[in-house]
Amino acid sequence: MKNHLKSMTAAEIGQVLKELGQPAFRAKQVYTWLHKGVRSYEEMTNLPKALRDTLAATYPLNIPKVVRKQESQRDGTIKYLWELHDGNCVETVLMRYHYGNTVCISTEVGCRMGCAFCASTIGGLVRKLEPYEILDQVLFTQVESGQPISHIVLMGIGEPLDNFDNVMRFLELVNSPEGMNISMRHISLSTCGLVPMIDKLAEKKLQISLAISLHGPNDEIRNRIMPVNKAYPIDELLAACHRYYAATSRRIHFEYAMIDGLNDREADAKELLRRLKGLQAHVNMIPLNHVEESPLKPSSRQAVQRFQKILEDGGIPATVRRTLGGDIDASCGQLRRKYTKEKKA
Ligand code: SAH
Repeated sequence: MKNHLKSMTAAEIGQVLKELGQPAFRAKQVYTWLHKGVRSYEEMTNLPKALRDTLAATYPLNIPKVVRKQESQRDGTIKYLWELHDGNCVETVLMRYHYGNTVCISTEVGCRMGCAFCASTIGGLVRKLEPYEILDQVLFTQVESGQPISHIVLMGIGEPLDNFDNVMRFLELVNSPEGMNISMRHISLSTCGLVPMIDKLAEKKLQISLAISLHGPNDEIRNRIMPVNKAYPIDELLAACHRYYAATSRRIHFEYAMIDGLNDREADAKELLRRLKGLQAHVNMIPLNHVEESPLKPSSRQAVQRFQKILEDGGIPATVRRTLGGDIDASCGQLRRKYTKEKKA
């Protein structure tokens, strides 16, 4: 977090400024400007010119550049592909929901989890994002779109719990009253199931929503599509979910991508029901987004409805996620993947 003022808390910025011989009140000024999404220190008009120059020379802002923007004609969803200071790209999606504007942000460049259906993991993990790079996606989506952001989902490229410290710092920053002041209750974090990290997150007792990418009711199915299950089988994962609920009293969301013939049968729904019994759970069914490189196909509408009915009849609330931005490749990693391929060609 060194060398990036926007990854620092106001107190840490205060320390930096103190060493530069600045009075204490400057920390809050700098922090507030940074979290407004200024593009240069020149915009920090209430700072002395000499200080602005020193900061610019020592702490580059590394503002991300929009290299692609796709806007859905159907629902106003906007997807941004950002180029970072080192040439790597990540995606952010802005979605308009009735309860507020939501951004889906990335936490890593690529991903090392290897899920069979996911475009983000195809080239593996390139690197983790710094706290400020995660925050910049929220800030500059707001600046670029002119839409105030009230909700965040950590469901873009990357595995948030594989970048634990930087993600925790990001949450602290985006939640700070002098910053974007986004409520923890308006933030969802999704994980493929890194059990030790779920326990570590539980210790923090945050009010965020935890989402678990389950995608299968048993080890046999999960092993076929999610390598992480070999390290942390489903029983261990669900035990961690029980502990998480005991620690936080927050209901857990289970994401379930509906894949034709693989995890969408009647027996799968019944098994899932049995597994989730006794847990304060909600199942979010996602019709699989087809990824070019993958042979997996989305479930039929009938299979989705049958699955949902079995869960609901069994007392587990289940919703089918509305697919936004279907016309603009708005699912995980697809735009970055296309862009990288084109650049190479
Ligand atoms: N790494 C985290 C968060 C990123 S993905 C995780 O695994 O939870 C956000 C959600 O989209 C996850 O549930 C993921 O499994 C799902 N997803 C990825 N590719 C998909 C696809 N092609 N169709 C439907 N859902 C997909």
